[in-house]
Amino acid sequence: MAVQPHFLLITYPAQGHINPTLQFAKGLTRIGVLVTLVTSLSAGRRMSKTLFPDGLSFVTFSDGYDDGLQAEDDRDHFTSELKRRGSQTLNELIVDSAKEGKPVTCLVYTMLLQWAAEVARAQHLPAALLWIQPATVFDIYYYYFNGYGDIFNNCKDTSYAIELPGLPPFASRDLPSFVLPSNTYTLALQLFQEQLEQLNQETNPKVLVNSFDALELVAMNAIEKLNLVGIGPLIPSAFLDGKDPLDKSFGGDLFQGSEDYTEWLNSKTKSSVVYVSFGSILVLPKRQIKEIARGLVDSGLPFLWVIRDEQSKNEVKEEEEEDHLSACREAILERQGMIVPWCCQVEVLSHPSIGCFVTHCGWNSTLESLVSEVPVVAFPHWTDQGTNAKLIADVWKTGVRVVANEEGIVEGDEIKRCLDLVMAPGKTGEDIRKNAKKWKDLARDAVREGGSSDKNLKAFVQEVGEGSF
Ligand code: UDP
Repeated sequence: MAVQPHFLLITYPAQGHINPTLQFAKGLTRIGVLVTLVTSLSAGRRMSKTLFPDGLSFVTFSDGYDDGLQAEDDRDHFTSELKRRGSQTLNELIVDSAKEGKPVTCLVYTMLLQWAAEVARAQHLPAALLWIQPATVFDIYYYYFNGYGDIFNNCKDTSYAIELPGLPPFASRDLPSFVLPSNTYTLALQLFQEQLEQLNQETNPKVLVNSFDALELVAMNAIEKLNLVGIGPLIPSAFLDGKDPLDKSFGGDLFQGSEDYTEWLNSKTKSSVVYVSFGSILVLPKRQIKEIARGLVDSGLPFLWVIRDEQSKNEVKEEEEEDHLSACREAILERQGMIVPWCCQVEVLSHPSIGCFVTHCGWNSTLESLVSEVPVVAFPHWTDQGTNAKLIADVWKTGVRVVANEEGIVEGDEIKRCLDLVMAPGKTGEDIRKNAKKWKDLARDAVREGGSSDKNLKAFVQEVGEGSF
C-alpha cells in the first residue's frame, strides 16, 4: 500500500512567515497530504486560538526565547539557538513519525531556516524552500552573491540604474535594503548567503515561491540552476478561489484583534475608505505617525488605520508630552477615521468600502491587495519592501509610491497627493483600478483547478511521491 504523503513544515516565528506557511499547509491537506507544522513555542502560544484543519498537526519547540525576541536580545545567539533546538526537534519528529507509521516524506522550510535542509539531507529526505517574498527578490539576492556584487557596491544614489538579467532596471531605493552599501544588518545578509549556499548543495534544488507565473514569469525562470516554482498567492481560500468558503483568515494571528471595525466599514460607501497598515514588525518614528495623521485628515477620506500596541507604547516612551495623533483625534471622534490595534487584514481588504491601501509593501500585504483588487499607496521602509513597491508602482502599475523628504519622512502633503491620485476619478486612478482588476483575475486564475499554481503544487507533491526529486 502506498504511504500517505507526510510533509514536515517549519516556519520562522514571524507573522509574515507564519501566514503563508499556514495557507500552504491548508492547501496541502486539501489534496490529501498529512502535514506537521512546526514553529517556536513563543509564536505557538500566541496562536492559541488557531483552528487547524483535519490532517494538520501543530508542534512547537522552545528556541530559548519563550517570551519572544526582544529588541535588546542578541540576534546571533537567537539565530544559533533556533538552529540548534530547531534541528533537534525536526530530527526527533522525523524519527517519531516513522515509528508511528506516518513517515515524513518531505521537509519544507521558510527562509532564514536553511539549516532545516541539512537535517533533511542527513535523514535522506527531499527538502524545499518556501520563499515568502517575490521571485524578483530571490533573484536579486542570487545575483548579489553570484557575480554581480560590485554593481551593488557601486550603487550609492537613487538614480543609479542597476541592470540584472531578466529583471526591470532598479535604482538603489528599489533594492532589498540588505544588499545596499548602507546595510548595517549583516546577519540578515549572511543568512541569505547561507541560504543560497545550502541550495547549491542540492542536486535538484527546489524553491516554492509565494507568487504566480503570470505575475513574475521572467523572474521565476531567470536563474537556470535553480528551480523556482510559483505556488501562490497563499491567501485564505474564501477571498481567492472559494475552494473552502469557511477559510476566512490565515488563523495564526500573533496579535490581539479588535472586532468592532466591521460595523464602521459597513457604514461607509463603496470604495471610499483608506486602509492603512505597516505590517507586524515596523515601528514608525513619531514624526512619521504625525505626518500620516495629517495626510489622512487633509485628504478628507474615511480611514481605518492599524497601529499596533508596540507602536503606541513606543510613542509614549519617545515623547511623553506630544500627542502624535492630535491631527486625527477630531476625525476619530466624528467617526471619519478609526484606529485599531490589529484586524483581519484579508477580510478588511475584501470589504467593498475599501478604496485604497496605504502599505509598507510587505510581500503578504502586497499579494493581499492584489487579490482584493485594492489600489495601493506604496510606503516601503526596508528589507524587500522597496522592491515590492517598485513592482507595484512601475511593473504591475497597481499603485503609486510615496516620496520621502531628505530626512526620510513622508510628509502629510505627499500622502494626500498620493491618495488624491489613487482615489480621485482622474486618469492615474482609473488606470490603476483597471490594472488592479486585471491582476486580481490573473491571481484567481493561477490558483483555480488547472491554474498554474494549482498545477505546480500538485506536480510538486507528485514528484515527492514518486521520489523523483
Ligand atoms: N496583518 C493582519 N492584521 C493587521 C496587520 C497585518 O492580519 O492588522 C497580516 C497581513 O494580512 C499579512 C501579515 O500580517 O498577512 C503581514 O505580513 P507582511 O508580509 O505584509 O508584512 P510584515 O509584517 O512581514 O512586515
